[in-house]
This record gives sequence, C-alpha cells and structure tokens, in this order.
Amino acid sequence: MDRKKIIIIGSGPAAFTAAIYAARANLSPLLFEGFFSGPSGGQLMTTTEVENYPGFPDGITGPELMMAMKKQSERFGTEILTEDVESVDLSKRPFLVKGSKNQFEAECIIVATGATAKRLDIPGTRDGEFWQKGVTACAVCDGAMPIFRDKELYVIGGGDTAVEEAIFLTKYGSKVYMVHRRDALRASKIMAQHAMEHPKIEILWNHVLQSVEGEDVVTSVTLQNLETKEESKRSAAGVFFAIGHNPNTGFLNGQLKSDDHGYLLVKLGTTLTEVEGVFAAGDVQDKVYRQAVSAAGSGCMAALDAERFLTTQGI
Ligand SMILES: Cc1cc2nc3c(=O)[nH]c(=O)nc-3n(C[C@H](O)[C@H](O)[C@H](O)COP(=O)(O)OP(=O)(O)OC[C@H]3O[C@@H](n4cnc5c(N)ncnc54)[C@H](O)[C@@H]3O)c2cc1C
Repeated sequence: MDRKKIIIIGSGPAAFTAAIYAARANLSPLLFEGFFSGPSGGQLMTTTEVENYPGFPDGITGPELMMAMKKQSERFGTEILTEDVESVDLSKRPFLVKGSKNQFEAECIIVATGATAKRLDIPGTRDGEFWQKGVTACAVCDGAMPIFRDKELYVIGGGDTAVEEAIFLTKYGSKVYMVHRRDALRASKIMAQHAMEHPKIEILWNHVLQSVEGEDVVTSVTLQNLETKEESKRSAAGVFFAIGHNPNTGFLNGQLKSDDHGYLLVKLGTTLTEVEGVFAAGDVQDKVYRQAVSAAGSGCMAALDAERFLTTQGI
C-alpha cells in the first residue's frame, strides 16, 4: 500500500494552511478534501463576504478566499483527493487512512475536518431561502454587516454561546431578542444575568421560531408562544442560530479523546492529540474562537508540529 509522510483530512482554512506549510517543507502532503461531508473549502463556502480575514481591505467572498487557499496549496505540490475519509486506524504506525475510494498508510495525520453549525429546519431559513440573507449561524462573522445596523435582531438559543452572541449583537442592532423555548436560560448564572440586565436585550421565554419572511433579505419572523400557543409576526432584519456546533469526528470512531461537546482535545498551546503522530487543527478542536484566521493559524501550527515529529522519527 502507498505510504504517505503526511495525510491531511479536511478542506477548510486549517487543512489548506497545513497543506501549504507541509508542501513547502517538501513533505508531499496528501489531502482528502471530502465529498459528501461538505463542499471543498469548508464552512466559508456557505457565506458571501468575509470582511475580517487579514489581507483583504475590501473584503473577499468566502468561496474566492477558499479557492485561493486551495490553489496556493496545490502550487507547492499538495495532492488533493475529492473523497471523504471514512475511517482511520490509529492503533499503530504507520496509521491506516481509508477513503471512500482509496486507502493509504500515513506516518502522520492532521485532522482538520471542522465543525458544522447546527441549524433548525424552519421555513425561510433554508439554503435558497434567507440563509445568508439575514439568517446566519455566526454573529461574530456577520454581525457587522450593514443589513443588521440599527435593526431588530433575533438570537435563537439559550446557552452561553447564545448569550455571548446576543451581547455582541447589541453593538449593531437596535434591539436583540433571545428566543428561548424554556423559562430559564441554560447559560451559566453570570452569563444569564448579563443577558437579563442588558438594556438592549429582551428574552422571549417559552417561545419558538416558526418561520422567517422577507423579500430580498429578512424583514420579519413569526414566533409562537408555547404557553398560550399564540403566534406573532414581528419586524426583524436578522436571525442568528446559536444552538451549538457538531465537530466532524465520526470517522475517528472514538480513537481520539474529545470533550463533552465532541471537540478533539489537544495539548495546551499545541496541536498534539494524545496519539503520537496525530495532530488536530481548526474548528474540530476549537470551541472558543471558531474563526477562519484562527483555523488557518492552527493549521500552520499542525504542519510545524508534524514536521518536527517526522524529524524526530528520522523520516
Ligand atoms: C455562515 C458562516 C459564516 C462565517 N463567516 C466567517 C467570517 O466572516 N470570518 C471568519 O473568520 N470566520 C467565519 N466563519 C467561521 C469559519 O468559517 C470557520 O471558523 C472556519 O471555516 C473553520 O475552518 P476549519 O479549517 O476548521 O474547517 P471547516 O471550514 O469547517 O471545513 C472542514 C471541511 O472538511 C471537510 N471534511 C469534513 N469531514 C471530512 C472527512 N471525513 N473527510 C474529508 N473531508 C472532510 C468538509 O468539507 C468540511 O467542510 C463563518 C462560518 C459560517 C458557518
């Protein structure tokens, strides 16, 4: 079986940055960019303008940014396979990596498969409806967009992330409503208190989102009060899902340790997992920052960690 020095799994900013560094270090990386697992390019393929990635003073679209990263990784000799990794065997080195069509041995592996933002399947929020036209899953990424300025914004969720996103959005919106299906927040006490005391935040207890309406962009939401069953249509410019993420780790079959939410655990300040020779980068191991630039930064770290590991192995 063909043996590779380094196999990178994923195709977001973390994977392509790792590939650029590994390829420039003459490690001839093989990258599985996925197929059914999501578009090559990762989460940014689902967004329009990216305004906070350094180097693009006028912004750049997510797909343009990702195709540029992919091209840059290929320029230095990254081999890219358009297939999903279905399983890996990390019990001994060289590791075994099984794709949907091909399988390889690998001296080391970088896992950069990202995470998938959870969304609710609600009329008006789907792709082709108002997704990315006022409906999003990332306040930090999209909150500063002009369509949200001085408008009424709705955050769906009741955990710490939802509170953080709501507070963040108060910088832009005229009013931020948190829509929560229960009568108490799941967020920590201190975070819940911040939300409840914030003059621009109102929590709509026992409410659920029924639908999102608009023309070119979102103009209203319909909510239901679960206690009275009453429906109300309210003016809105933005709907922010803040109900968590699913790290894409199914193919690992539990061979790497993860936290309670499924994020891979790495040694603090590095990309080292507890399996020697396996590194994790990007959102799959980051429940805090979850930004393209932080994913790219950890992709760089993973490639450098992998290169050092291979050197210690005399490879
Ligand atoms: C709507 C939206 C807008 C955003 N806007 C911004 C923004 O403006 N600025 C910003 O900095 N960040 C933004 N983000 C966050 C940013 O996209 C993520 O932080 C970043 O993409 C994470 O990169 P990653 O490399 O970890 O992986 P991801 O981008 O999550 O990509 C990983 C990819 O790996 C592939 N993959 C998964 N499993 C497998 C497998 N088994 N085999 C092979 N391949 C696999 C899939 O294609 C997957 O999509 C946004 C996110 C969303 C959802």
